[in-house]
Amino acid sequence: MIYFDNAATTIPLDSAVAAMNDAMTDFGNPSSLHGLGLAASKRVAAARRIIADALFVTPQEIYFTSGATEADNTAVFGAANTIGKRKPRIVISSVEHPAVAEPCRYLESKGFEIVRVAPRDDGFHAEDFIAAVDDKTCLVSMMLFNNETGAPLPVSAAFKRIKKFYPDTLTHCDMVQGFLKIPCKAKDLYADMISVSGHKVHAPKGVGALYVKKGTHISSMMYGGGQERGFRSGTESVPLISAFGAAASELSADIQSIYDNAAALSEYLKKRAAECGFAVNSPEDALPYINSIAVAGLRSEVLLHYLEQREIYVSSGSACSKGKKSTVLREFHIPDELADSTIRISFCAKNTKEEIDTLITALLDAKKELVGKK
Ligand code: PLP
Repeated sequence: MIYFDNAATTIPLDSAVAAMNDAMTDFGNPSSLHGLGLAASKRVAAARRIIADALFVTPQEIYFTSGATEADNTAVFGAANTIGKRKPRIVISSVEHPAVAEPCRYLESKGFEIVRVAPRDDGFHAEDFIAAVDDKTCLVSMMLFNNETGAPLPVSAAFKRIKKFYPDTLTHCDMVQGFLKIPCKAKDLYADMISVSGHKVHAPKGVGALYVKKGTHISSMMYGGGQERGFRSGTESVPLISAFGAAASELSADIQSIYDNAAALSEYLKKRAAECGFAVNSPEDALPYINSIAVAGLRSEVLLHYLEQREIYVSSGSACSKGKKSTVLREFHIPDELADSTIRISFCAKNTKEEIDTLITALLDAKKELVGKK
């Protein structure tokens, strides 16, 4: 099997599976006062420290969630519910993941003004975000890297100036595709909140975290037993959180070498794609883990299933769009006929140049066999 769909989800690391199994066997509830509870709460605390260290923040600023969708929703609704009455305006990029875009669409239906900043021909500009913010803006939310093309967004440059001019406006970064893929300190992003997800970094699905900078006050989405220091009620999923910690610990030690491998693979893929006449949608400065390419004349889904027969797994656009036309590619000015022929090839540390050669051979075969056929 060749797995090139790591932006959708990743293969769990052995260390994550082992940590999960251990925490399943050692099954205490972290809120219990006896020894089993204490052991479980120690596991959660250890994982919290690892995630905090990966972002260079304190453990008290990390809240575990059921994934990045919950973290993104919490950031958006938390800001809206807390200061949105006074400041009913939210600025986002036009290419946000639905986990940010859809809560904003909901708030729009309730009277919020949502400003969607679009990329120019050469990508996003920090000034466009800064110009969109005013003193009625409760939140600016921007992803660090787009999940369909890997395009970077100017989070640090924009947030730095927004926080200077509008200190009361909250800043949130959906860092899902960048977390543990590039070395990154939360402080350098000037973000009050950051969302991350476990299953994009070789941990299981159903766990993520929201970083909330000390001194940032937003309302909670979950009311109940007061877990996560009252911010996110619900018994902690100790197995999932432990696995997230184990995977993050393993990856943290190796970020630079994994990045270098992805950069070499991306360069090689783009070179081979260009030689074969395939279009590269990802910009030059894209995150090298995510590569969007188009094979003109072939529909994405047909290509995806052709590759699947050879046990090569890629994605058509983003996993969440499930065959629906991608509005993100259109936002990035990719013509519709290329967008319809786009596949996303996303890497992890295990991928190799030989796998790319196998992919390119398969794409050329697909072109020979299928182009022009109905
Ligand atoms: N944000 C981005 C950029 C993503 O790529 C994803 C997953 O595809 C999410 C949020 C949602 O993450 P989760 O699956 O953990 O809810």
